[in-house]
Amino acid sequence: MNTQHKMKVLKFGGTSVGSAERMHALVQLVVNDEAKIVVLSAMSGTTNALVEIANALYAKNTAQATTLINTLEEKYKNELKRLYITETALQKGNNLVKFHFDYLRSFTLDMFTANEEKAILAQGELLSTAMFHYYLEEMNVSSVLLPALNFMRIDENDEPDLKSIETHLNEELEKYPGQKLFITQGYICRNAFGEIDNLKRGGSDYTASLIGAAIYAPEVQIWTDIDGMHNNDPRIVDKTHPIHELSFDEAAELAYFGAKILHPTCILPAQKRKIPVLLLNTMQPSAKGTTISEKTTENGIKAVAAKDGITAINIKSDRMLLAHGFLRSVFDIFERYKTPIDMITTSEVAVSLTIDSSKYLKEIVKELEEFSDVTVDENQSIICIVGDFGSETKGCALKVLNALKEIPIRMISYGGSPNNVSLLIKGSLKKDALVALNKGLFNY
Ligand code: ADP
Ligand code: ASP
Ligand code: MG
Repeated sequence: MNTQHKMKVLKFGGTSVGSAERMHALVQLVVNDEAKIVVLSAMSGTTNALVEIANALYAKNTAQATTLINTLEEKYKNELKRLYITETALQKGNNLVKFHFDYLRSFTLDMFTANEEKAILAQGELLSTAMFHYYLEEMNVSSVLLPALNFMRIDENDEPDLKSIETHLNEELEKYPGQKLFITQGYICRNAFGEIDNLKRGGSDYTASLIGAAIYAPEVQIWTDIDGMHNNDPRIVDKTHPIHELSFDEAAELAYFGAKILHPTCILPAQKRKIPVLLLNTMQPSAKGTTISEKTTENGIKAVAAKDGITAINIKSDRMLLAHGFLRSVFDIFERYKTPIDMITTSEVAVSLTIDSSKYLKEIVKELEEFSDVTVDENQSIICIVGDFGSETKGCALKVLNALKEIPIRMISYGGSPNNVSLLIKGSLKKDALVALNKGLFNY
């Protein structure tokens, strides 16, 4: 094993690379004696702008797509002027930006499919990493730009292929013995067909954790615009506080159930290899942030999160619910449509479950109706309360229900894991529920 296997992984999100000034500030965080792989997101706003461009191209609205592309290019050109000092670096930056925006413009001439969309979405990370790499070069800091498209892979089920990532990443790293600073793109990857693809929105966190797992990193740091995981969604409630320690399971539940600070599944690769994940604030680097590790601290309820766009499906059977094979036939349908179930509750005659993708809802309902009465409620939200609720812990459920006494609850799931109580409510009541929980559980 060479020393590169001791490298930490540091991921910087959109706002942390969101302007020339932010990129300048990054140097202090990444340039020191420690060997590391730095994963960068696209500059904030870029991926959203690329989504808009792709939508215009889908709609065959070439004029609008061209305007959007040109506007974004202007933004980058202005950033470059503030990013670089020397003419040489500025020239390099301008060539880079021209290359990527000419590429974007080439899609206005051609047929547009999902593959082209993915190629478009990849441009943000390709730009930010090269821009930062050139800046380091200008500062006489030696770094290597590792192309994520050479090692980051997903399989035919769109799941990361850790074995392949490990092999290809190590092949890349071995080309640069003694090198201490690597820069790579978050979010982007290749799929089972070798095409450009991505790890879904917010996926740069996932990249960092996958790289951490692939190189057995001692630590993965996720640098963002807030001082760690907070007890509640700071975009929705007024007062929140950071949680300094979370177990992998607790953090994974919060991420999966809507805490935007982490990509929904990004904890899993780190957890698999027991690599601590630190959530840190680029605007306030000395703040303690959150450490996510195997350690569990027992102090009841720690945080709440909410996930929108949930569909609840109630399946009532003429046969008895627990009749042998009933649940299997239900689950079988969801499995065939590759639609994961989030929550499930049962009674003697019916089962209610939730899904967060309604892509195959029609087909699923049609098949369920062959042997049951089905009702569907869309626009629901899951409220997830996370902490340590071992079977010996008393009163947690009471506190939760008490806090939510004014909110109608559609489903409750408790006991599935010792770390989570989930409730399903109408999406329109999400804010009220989070505010009520902030008051009832955290005294705000
Ligand atoms: P980045 O661009 O760095 O990946 P994100 O916007 O994806 O950053 O995630 C950080 C944001 O997540 C915060 O600014 C905050 O508004 C939001 N957020 C939602 N829930 C939480 C939470 N429980 N704790 C901290 N931040 C949260
Ligand atoms: N740039 C991508 C996005 O905005 C990935 C990320 O930022 O994590 O979704
Ligand atoms: Mg993010």
